Amino acid sequence: CGIVGYIGSRDTQTVLIEGLKKLEYRGYDSAGIAVFTPEGLKISKSIGRLANLEAKLEDAPLVGSAGIGHTRWATHGKPSDVNSHPHTDHTQKFSVVHNGIVENYLELKEELIGQGYTFASETDTEVIVNLIAREYKGDIVKAVQQAVTYMRGAFALGVLTEYEPSKLVAVRQASPLVIGIGEGENFIGSDIPAILNYTRKVYILNDGEMAVLTENSVELMTIEGNFISREMTNVEWDE
Ligand code: GLU
Repeated sequence: CGIVGYIGSRDTQTVLIEGLKKLEYRGYDSAGIAVFTPEGLKISKSIGRLANLEAKLEDAPLVGSAGIGHTRWATHGKPSDVNSHPHTDHTQKFSVVHNGIVENYLELKEELIGQGYTFASETDTEVIVNLIAREYKGDIVKAVQQAVTYMRGAFALGVLTEYEPSKLVAVRQASPLVIGIGEGENFIGSDIPAILNYTRKVYILNDGEMAVLTENSVELMTIEGNFISREMTNVEWDE
Protein backbone atom coordinates (compact mmCIF):
# COMPACT_ATOMS: atom_id res chain seq x y z
CA CYS A 1 0.00 0.00 0.00
CA GLY A 2 2.64 2.57 1.03
CA ILE A 3 6.40 2.64 0.43
CA VAL A 4 9.14 4.89 1.73
CA GLY A 5 12.90 4.50 1.41
CA TYR A 6 15.98 6.44 2.50
CA ILE A 7 19.73 6.51 1.98
CA GLY A 8 21.84 9.17 3.71
CA SER A 9 23.16 10.25 7.08
CA ARG A 10 19.99 11.19 8.97
CA ASP A 11 18.47 8.82 11.49
CA THR A 12 16.98 6.37 8.98
CA GLN A 13 14.38 4.94 11.34
CA THR A 14 12.92 8.41 11.97
CA VAL A 15 12.77 9.28 8.26
CA LEU A 16 10.98 6.01 7.52
CA ILE A 17 8.46 6.30 10.35
CA GLU A 18 7.71 9.96 9.56
CA GLY A 19 7.20 9.00 5.91
CA LEU A 20 4.89 6.11 6.79
CA LYS A 21 2.80 8.41 8.98
CA LYS A 22 2.15 10.60 5.93
CA LEU A 23 0.87 7.51 4.09
CA GLU A 24 -1.45 6.33 6.87
CA TYR A 25 -4.44 8.06 5.24
CA ARG A 26 -4.35 5.43 2.48
CA GLY A 27 -5.30 2.73 4.98
CA TYR A 28 -3.21 -0.29 6.05
CA ASP A 29 -3.29 -3.35 8.26
CA SER A 30 0.39 -3.62 9.24
CA ALA A 31 3.70 -1.83 8.90
CA GLY A 32 7.43 -2.46 9.00
CA ILE A 33 10.92 -1.20 8.23
CA ALA A 34 14.29 -2.70 7.26
CA VAL A 35 17.52 -0.83 8.05
CA PHE A 36 21.20 -1.50 7.32
CA THR A 37 22.67 -1.58 10.81
CA PRO A 38 26.34 -2.21 11.64
CA GLU A 39 25.22 -5.81 12.40
CA GLY A 40 23.61 -6.18 8.97
CA LEU A 41 20.15 -5.82 7.48
CA LYS A 42 17.59 -5.81 10.31
CA ILE A 43 13.80 -5.89 10.02
CA SER A 44 11.12 -4.81 12.47
CA LYS A 45 7.42 -5.19 11.64
CA SER A 46 4.05 -5.41 13.27
CA ILE A 47 0.40 -6.03 12.54
CA GLY A 48 -1.90 -3.11 13.34
CA ARG A 49 -1.22 0.58 13.81
CA LEU A 50 2.12 2.27 13.22
CA ALA A 51 2.15 2.88 16.97
CA ASN A 52 2.70 -0.89 17.44
CA LEU A 53 5.78 -0.72 15.22
CA GLU A 54 6.98 2.40 17.02
CA ALA A 55 6.65 0.61 20.36
CA LYS A 56 8.78 -2.27 19.06
CA LEU A 57 11.38 0.21 17.77
CA GLU A 58 11.44 1.99 21.08
CA ASP A 59 12.55 -1.26 22.74
CA ALA A 60 14.92 -2.19 19.90
CA PRO A 61 15.85 0.78 17.66
CA LEU A 62 17.27 0.12 14.19
CA VAL A 63 20.17 2.51 13.65
CA GLY A 64 21.71 2.75 10.20
CA SER A 65 22.31 4.72 7.03
CA ALA A 66 19.72 3.26 4.63
CA GLY A 67 16.35 1.62 4.91
CA ILE A 68 12.94 0.82 3.46
CA GLY A 69 9.50 1.02 5.07
CA HIS A 70 6.00 -0.19 4.21
CA THR A 71 2.39 0.04 5.21
CA ARG A 72 0.56 -3.06 3.98
CA TRP A 73 -2.94 -3.55 2.65
CA ALA A 74 -3.04 -7.35 2.46
CA THR A 75 -3.88 -8.95 -0.87
CA HIS A 76 -2.09 -12.31 -0.55
CA GLY A 77 -1.98 -13.74 2.97
CA LYS A 78 -3.93 -12.46 5.97
CA PRO A 79 -2.73 -9.46 7.97
CA SER A 80 -0.09 -10.78 10.42
CA ASP A 81 3.40 -10.00 11.67
CA VAL A 82 4.93 -12.63 9.37
CA ASN A 83 3.06 -11.44 6.27
CA SER A 84 4.01 -7.78 6.91
CA HIS A 85 6.72 -6.16 4.83
CA PRO A 86 9.70 -5.78 4.48
CA HIS A 87 10.24 -9.38 3.39
CA THR A 88 13.58 -11.13 3.22
CA ASP A 89 14.88 -14.10 1.22
CA HIS A 90 15.88 -17.43 2.73
CA THR A 91 19.51 -16.28 3.16
CA GLN A 92 18.34 -13.02 4.78
CA LYS A 93 20.70 -10.96 2.62
CA PHE A 94 18.00 -9.15 0.62
CA SER A 95 14.99 -7.13 1.65
CA VAL A 96 11.99 -5.92 -0.35
CA VAL A 97 8.93 -3.73 0.16
CA HIS A 98 6.19 -4.11 -2.43
CA ASN A 99 2.96 -2.41 -3.39
CA GLY A 100 0.64 -4.27 -5.73
CA ILE A 101 0.16 -7.86 -6.81
CA VAL A 102 2.32 -10.46 -8.55
CA GLU A 103 -0.32 -12.37 -10.53
CA ASN A 104 1.80 -15.44 -11.29
CA TYR A 105 3.30 -15.73 -7.80
CA LEU A 106 2.03 -19.28 -7.12
CA GLU A 107 3.69 -20.62 -10.24
CA LEU A 108 6.94 -18.83 -9.32
CA LYS A 109 6.71 -19.99 -5.71
CA GLU A 110 6.36 -23.64 -6.77
CA GLU A 111 9.35 -23.28 -9.07
CA LEU A 112 11.45 -21.74 -6.26
CA ILE A 113 10.38 -24.43 -3.76
CA GLY A 114 11.43 -27.04 -6.33
CA GLN A 115 14.84 -25.35 -6.39
CA GLY A 116 15.19 -25.56 -2.60
CA TYR A 117 13.94 -22.12 -1.56
CA THR A 118 11.91 -21.90 1.63
CA PHE A 119 9.13 -19.47 2.54
CA ALA A 120 7.99 -18.02 5.85
CA SER A 121 4.94 -16.04 4.68
CA GLU A 122 1.90 -16.44 2.45
CA THR A 123 2.64 -13.30 0.42
CA ASP A 124 3.39 -12.80 -3.25
CA THR A 125 6.12 -10.39 -2.10
CA GLU A 126 8.29 -13.11 -0.57
CA VAL A 127 8.46 -14.65 -4.05
CA ILE A 128 9.93 -11.40 -5.40
CA VAL A 129 12.72 -11.22 -2.83
CA ASN A 130 13.67 -14.87 -3.37
CA LEU A 131 13.68 -14.39 -7.14
CA ILE A 132 16.07 -11.45 -6.69
CA ALA A 133 18.28 -13.59 -4.42
CA ARG A 134 18.29 -16.39 -7.00
CA GLU A 135 19.24 -14.02 -9.82
CA TYR A 136 21.97 -12.24 -7.82
CA LYS A 137 25.40 -12.77 -9.36
CA GLY A 138 27.20 -9.79 -7.81
CA ASP A 139 25.12 -6.92 -9.24
CA ILE A 140 21.85 -5.99 -7.51
CA VAL A 141 20.63 -3.86 -10.43
CA LYS A 142 20.97 -6.77 -12.86
CA ALA A 143 19.40 -9.18 -10.36
CA VAL A 144 16.32 -6.95 -9.96
CA GLN A 145 16.04 -6.45 -13.73
CA GLN A 146 16.22 -10.20 -14.30
CA ALA A 147 13.74 -11.03 -11.50
CA VAL A 148 11.20 -8.56 -12.85
CA THR A 149 11.16 -10.27 -16.27
CA TYR A 150 9.55 -13.32 -14.59
CA MET A 151 6.85 -11.33 -12.79
CA ARG A 152 3.38 -10.43 -14.14
CA GLY A 153 1.18 -7.86 -12.46
CA ALA A 154 1.48 -4.53 -10.70
CA PHE A 155 4.39 -3.65 -8.50
CA ALA A 156 6.32 -0.81 -6.99
CA LEU A 157 9.43 -2.11 -5.20
CA GLY A 158 12.11 -0.90 -2.85
CA VAL A 159 15.08 -3.28 -2.66
CA LEU A 160 18.14 -3.49 -0.40
CA THR A 161 20.91 -6.06 -0.18
CA GLU A 162 23.56 -6.51 2.45
CA TYR A 163 26.03 -7.26 -0.36
CA GLU A 164 25.76 -3.66 -1.67
CA PRO A 165 24.88 -1.45 1.29
CA SER A 166 25.52 1.78 -0.57
CA LYS A 167 22.58 1.19 -2.95
CA LEU A 168 18.82 1.41 -2.81
CA VAL A 169 16.99 0.11 -5.88
CA ALA A 170 13.44 1.15 -6.83
CA VAL A 171 11.14 -0.21 -9.56
CA ARG A 172 7.80 0.98 -10.88
CA GLN A 173 5.42 -1.19 -12.89
CA ALA A 174 1.76 -0.11 -12.74
CA SER A 175 2.03 1.11 -9.14
CA PRO A 176 3.21 4.67 -8.37
CA LEU A 177 6.70 5.56 -7.15
CA VAL A 178 8.66 8.82 -6.89
CA ILE A 179 12.31 9.53 -6.19
CA GLY A 180 13.20 12.42 -3.87
CA ILE A 181 16.50 14.24 -4.34
CA GLY A 182 18.42 15.65 -1.39
CA GLU A 183 21.97 16.77 -0.68
CA GLY A 184 24.03 13.79 0.40
CA GLU A 185 20.79 11.85 0.75
CA ASN A 186 18.02 10.49 -1.46
CA PHE A 187 14.52 9.10 -0.96
CA ILE A 188 11.82 6.97 -2.51
CA GLY A 189 8.09 7.18 -1.84
CA SER A 190 4.88 5.72 -3.22
CA ASP A 191 3.42 9.18 -2.85
CA ILE A 192 5.00 12.65 -2.72
CA PRO A 193 3.77 13.47 0.85
CA ALA A 194 5.89 10.57 2.17
CA ILE A 195 9.07 12.54 1.43
CA LEU A 196 7.85 16.14 1.35
CA ASN A 197 9.18 16.85 4.85
CA TYR A 198 12.68 16.34 3.49
CA THR A 199 12.75 17.48 -0.14
CA ARG A 200 10.70 19.18 -2.84
CA LYS A 201 12.80 17.94 -5.73
CA VAL A 202 11.48 14.73 -7.25
CA TYR A 203 11.71 12.48 -10.27
CA ILE A 204 8.40 10.84 -11.12
CA LEU A 205 8.99 7.30 -12.41
CA ASN A 206 6.89 5.96 -15.28
CA ASP A 207 5.81 2.35 -15.72
CA GLY A 208 8.68 0.09 -16.70
CA GLU A 209 11.29 2.35 -15.10
CA MET A 210 13.66 1.95 -12.19
CA ALA A 211 16.10 4.00 -10.15
CA VAL A 212 19.37 3.26 -8.40
CA LEU A 213 20.04 5.53 -5.44
CA THR A 214 23.20 6.11 -3.44
CA GLU A 215 23.73 8.92 -0.93
CA ASN A 216 25.13 11.14 -3.66
CA SER A 217 23.57 9.95 -6.90
CA VAL A 218 20.37 8.85 -8.60
CA GLU A 219 20.42 6.94 -11.87
CA LEU A 220 17.18 6.44 -13.78
CA MET A 221 16.82 3.65 -16.31
CA THR A 222 14.28 1.42 -17.95
CA ILE A 223 13.86 -2.09 -16.56
CA GLU A 224 15.75 -3.21 -19.70
CA GLY A 225 18.71 -1.11 -18.50
CA ASN A 226 18.59 1.88 -20.87
CA PHE A 227 19.57 5.06 -19.02
CA ILE A 228 17.03 7.88 -18.94
CA SER A 229 17.62 11.59 -18.43
CA ARG A 230 14.68 13.48 -16.95
CA GLU A 231 13.93 16.95 -15.64
CA MET A 232 13.48 17.16 -11.90
CA THR A 233 10.01 18.22 -10.79
CA ASN A 234 9.85 20.91 -8.15
CA VAL A 235 6.87 20.28 -5.85
CA GLU A 236 5.21 23.65 -5.22
CA TRP A 237 2.28 22.53 -3.10
CA ASP A 238 2.02 21.69 0.58
CA GLU A 239 0.07 18.78 1.94
N1 GLU B 1 0.52 -8.05 -2.38
C1 GLU B 1 1.31 -7.63 -1.28
C2 GLU B 1 0.83 -8.27 0.01
O1 GLU B 1 -0.28 -8.71 0.10
C3 GLU B 1 1.37 -6.10 -1.15
C4 GLU B 1 0.08 -5.45 -0.73
C5 GLU B 1 0.19 -3.92 -0.65
O2 GLU B 1 0.23 -3.26 -1.71
O3 GLU B 1 0.22 -3.40 0.48
O4 GLU B 1 1.57 -8.35 0.94
